[in-house]
Amino acid sequence: MDPRNIRPSELEDWAAARDCDATVVRKLLSAIFRRGVLEPGRWMAESQIPRRLAESIAPLPLPRLTLDGSVVSPQDGFQKLRFRTGEGLALETVLIPLHKPGAVSLCLSSQIGCAMGCTFCATARMTTRRNLQTWEIIDQFLQARDLVQSQGRRVTGAVFMGMGEPFLNYDNVLAAADLMRCSSAGSVAAKAITVSTVGLVPEIDRYTREGHRYRLAISLGAATDAKRKELVPVASRWPVAEVVAAARRHALARRCRVTLAYVCIGGVNVGEDDARALGELIGDTPVRVDLIEVTDPTGRYAPPTAEELQGFRDALTRHVGQPIVRRYSGGKDIQAACGTLAGVG
Ligand code: SF4
Repeated sequence: MDPRNIRPSELEDWAAARDCDATVVRKLLSAIFRRGVLEPGRWMAESQIPRRLAESIAPLPLPRLTLDGSVVSPQDGFQKLRFRTGEGLALETVLIPLHKPGAVSLCLSSQIGCAMGCTFCATARMTTRRNLQTWEIIDQFLQARDLVQSQGRRVTGAVFMGMGEPFLNYDNVLAAADLMRCSSAGSVAAKAITVSTVGLVPEIDRYTREGHRYRLAISLGAATDAKRKELVPVASRWPVAEVVAAARRHALARRCRVTLAYVCIGGVNVGEDDARALGELIGDTPVRVDLIEVTDPTGRYAPPTAEELQGFRDALTRHVGQPIVRRYSGGKDIQAACGTLAGVG
């Protein structure tokens, strides 16, 4: 067994093959998550896990991340953590304070860099790219959770909206989500975990087929292919109508609303025609549209003015028959907002 990329269900099979029951699996997961014990030798000593089981775990060093920086926004309390992998690559995690006092959601990275090339995103400009191992994702969760708890707060949710396209690292991301959800491990409610994608249709369909109970968010960018291709190059492979059709299949199969994240850019995608196109595209598909003002560190794109945004919201009310929510993208002053994570600052 490679303990770096393990799913709870695989751990159960593995333990059962060694005549150990679910209690042992719970102890193992609890040891890892509640005590932060990652070495097999210590699992045995600290969790009364049978010797034969502990000894059969390959003594691979689990890749703990090194916390390399932490900055808190004086404006809104968002906090950004920068980690380094074993080979020194930087990745970032954001702690998002929620409205409920003491509750924090974690914005986790799934990759270093990102090949999707969204034109408003700093992560896309990183030169080094690779998938994160499940344990590198989980270690973001563990270290951030410990920090949050030391502040007298608690982690109540997690979103895969940090660096990377989660569906390009599908297996490791879903394994990490399973661990975070597991009652013996992270204990985060499935509905409080969101997997976000820029719109990879085959992976959305796989996610739907597999019946995961986490929420699904799709970054739309724009409602027409012409505009979307400018912002989200992957749109050349999957027309926006196909993306929304996949969202519809998911929403109907899982009986839930899919979140469509719409990055609002002044003078680009916030006109009456954009609202009309979005309404025609969505129709009666069960979605919630999240409006997020762009934060482009290069200055190429600017957020809409207050009048533009209000006009767009009014137009959406006329053309879109689904809930519209304005989502706050915080931590702008510490480069922690959507699209600004790049392992620097
Ligand atoms: S917005 Fe997301 S999918 Fe697009 S380049 Fe940035 S990290 Fe990748």
